Amino acid sequence: MDSLHTQDKKYILNTYNRGNLVIERAEGSYLYDIEGNKYLDMYAGISVNNLGHDKKIAEIMAKQALKYTHLSNYFVSEPVVNLAKLLVENSFASKVFFTNSGTESNEAAIKLCRKYGKQFDKNKYELLSAYNSFHGRTYGSLAITGQEKYQNSFTPLLSGVKHFVYNNVESLRESVSDNTCAVFLEIIQGEGGVIEISQEFIDEVISLSKKYNFLIVIDEIQTGIGRTGDLFAYEKFNFSPDIVTLSKSLGGGLPIGAVLVSKKLEDIFALWDHGSTFGGNPVSCACGVYVLESILNSNLLEEVKQKGALLMDGLNSIKKSYPNIIKEIRGRGLMIGVEVNNHINKIKELAQTKNLLLNSTANTVIRLLPPLIIKIDEISQFINIFEEVIFELSNC
Ligand code: PLP
Repeated sequence: MDSLHTQDKKYILNTYNRGNLVIERAEGSYLYDIEGNKYLDMYAGISVNNLGHDKKIAEIMAKQALKYTHLSNYFVSEPVVNLAKLLVENSFASKVFFTNSGTESNEAAIKLCRKYGKQFDKNKYELLSAYNSFHGRTYGSLAITGQEKYQNSFTPLLSGVKHFVYNNVESLRESVSDNTCAVFLEIIQGEGGVIEISQEFIDEVISLSKKYNFLIVIDEIQTGIGRTGDLFAYEKFNFSPDIVTLSKSLGGGLPIGAVLVSKKLEDIFALWDHGSTFGGNPVSCACGVYVLESILNSNLLEEVKQKGALLMDGLNSIKKSYPNIIKEIRGRGLMIGVEVNNHINKIKELAQTKNLLLNSTANTVIRLLPPLIIKIDEISQFINIFEEVIFELSNC
């Protein structure tokens, strides 16, 4: 029989650049391949497995699945209500709409913003977002993703979208007008290379939103649910967004997304304005309740800050020794970008030979997104291996 990789190539559209491993199982911060090798996982499924590869998720799934896996959104469902309640009670939001993915959360938000704008003026439909942002790959989310490389083959895109330069106040001012209905923002651009928003910029967004009456939509699909050491990354900036979009880690590995809306937006969507067959799947929501309760009823957020600081310290000392390879280290909590220019592929390759799995983004950035439950000795293990990798590279 053909290998799994050969069959994967034969039967599945070629849209992902798969690695060469075949993973058999995962536990905690580690992945195990079919040959029995153990790898330290610094991807966490690209910020999905925030609680690590947690066996408790399987129990929660089974418990809910034995009751029912799906009913349709014509029925109320306890895990769905419980998850919404937890999200509302622990954020700015007053209500929630559930989706299945990040891009769907942003699609729902786009529709809501446009309907909000139309209440005031038929021309108040413009959506603004940053260059270098990433908001998803369906048409609305793709249009607000400010990266031509994802868009060019698929034009014409959704119209009424403008982009500004991230963290550039002048560029923002030039883009907004009375026709702006919403500004979409990542607090830390993830796909764009782990670049954090500045206080000055967010202040300007808030001030302009009052002047021009537009909504502030924070895309926390990658940064949300504890990744940065706060439940939501926006909390650091001490303001209240109008909308927050979520997905990725919310379901502990199961597909789910959410749109959190403020009080003033509660009634923008009327009956049948939006919907989704699977949105708010009860099994995913039951896992979401477990994820949120695990974070809220523990010291995990504080630990994320401490572990992030430890990682930063270790990386900075490697940078000091190898300034020609490591150009910059940035990020917050356990979302850290290491700028390594064109060394990226070699670093990933070498790391894998030493049982360390690294994710990269924006062509030149190692993006560290370990499980939030990573242990202190696993961080030391990472730092040691990473140093060996950079040392070997420096001798190449
Ligand atoms: N928004 C951000 C900030 C993301 O990082 C991603 C995915 O990486 C998305 C949106 C899209 O999410 P999904 O892949 O679930 O559609």
